[in-house]
Amino acid sequence: MENVALLGATGSIGTSALDVIARYPERYHVRVLTANTNAEKLAQLASVWQPETVIAADESAYKPLCEALERLGVKHVSVAAGPEAVRAAACDPEVDTVIMAIVGAAGVVPSFAAASAGKRILMANKESVVCGGSMLMELVARTGAAILPVDSEHNAVFQCLQAARPEDRADARIWLTCSGGPFHARPGIDLESVTPEMALAHPTWSMGRKITIDSATLMNKGLEVIEAHHLFDKSADDISVVIHPQSVVHSMVEFGDGAVIAELGTPSMKTPIAYCLGYPERLSGAARRLDVTALSSLTFEAPDMKRFVQLAYAYEAVRRGQGAAIVLNAANEVGVEAFLAGRAGFCDIARVCRAMMDAYVDAPLVGLEDVVALDHETRVRAGAWLKQR
Ligand code: NAD
Ligand code: MG
Repeated sequence: MENVALLGATGSIGTSALDVIARYPERYHVRVLTANTNAEKLAQLASVWQPETVIAADESAYKPLCEALERLGVKHVSVAAGPEAVRAAACDPEVDTVIMAIVGAAGVVPSFAAASAGKRILMANKESVVCGGSMLMELVARTGAAILPVDSEHNAVFQCLQAARPEDRADARIWLTCSGGPFHARPGIDLESVTPEMALAHPTWSMGRKITIDSATLMNKGLEVIEAHHLFDKSADDISVVIHPQSVVHSMVEFGDGAVIAELGTPSMKTPIAYCLGYPERLSGAARRLDVTALSSLTFEAPDMKRFVQLAYAYEAVRRGQGAAIVLNAANEVGVEAFLAGRAGFCDIARVCRAMMDAYVDAPLVGLEDVVALDHETRVRAGAWLKQR
């Protein structure tokens, strides 16, 4: 029996992960469930899954969580709150596999904890890889931990790379596919006039709010370029983004001999989650099957990086290094939050990213403390910048 800690259990990835796990009760035991503020949903999940530990990352959710657990008659569960409890759960000695389904840079510290403890990490939280960069990858290599990419594009690349011997992967190039979000195919839309409601209507994927906005600005693809750079040790020149509105081809790898290997499927996160859970075994039955005969056309085109500038900023961050990536990610998170709260316009997200990247003087970072400090500092500055504008 494999013991699983699911961090970010109440979200979109968390829900899909539990749907997959539910099919294999003899293989996986959910030992830890965490959420941020949604005490009611976390308690309901605890009543179904009977974990040993439940944790609310936000301390103000502790009391509501205890009350909800009592109301639902959930007993024999240890209850905790706060970011330190989430960090400790990620390196719980009883846990084999950590599913990192937290959104945003809040995932960084638990990801480092899981990596330090040598866990098998099913990594959905791309922001951890973006901010942790080579520091996180080196830690994983040192401790014998493993990062299995849940992000559908990286999961596809991971699968495609298996087509070659490790020594033949060095000159491989990556093609990350991108749906384009709701606005890429609509050049007539003035991005300045985009409302949260418009940006939250993603054409092909159903996801959490933050990543849905990132998909509309193409920051999501930008973060994925940085993520691919670290996960697969590829330079910016070896990673291309291609707009593929059908979201059927989840990404491709081009090898030195000219062969291009692609992974196709329905747009469901259950496929990559099942792949990572079972790896190297393939677990069947989690996702809807792709009807290839129903595919009338698959189209591919270059992204418009002048209109969707955050994708260009991500390439810039890959070239500049870890600090620039942390700054870009933090500024984006602050911008997205302000946009969703009606305190900033859609294009202000890109503006605050640009302002923070311009103000940042590139410098090498030494440890996790530097990562956390730069993230925090940028958030404060980005918040102030948006207010003063
Ligand atoms: P979501 O908003 O639906 O869920 C986020 C989860 O994280 C929730 O359980 C929430 O309680 C928890 N959380 C939020 N803030 C937290 C904090 N400060 N501390 C601890 N926990 C916190 O998000 P999602 O769409 O499930 O995305 C999760 C991660 O997976 C993101 O990094 C996203 O980029 C990545 N991802 C998601 C999808 C998708 O289809 N949803 C696809 C690929 C990658
Ligand atoms: Mg993705």
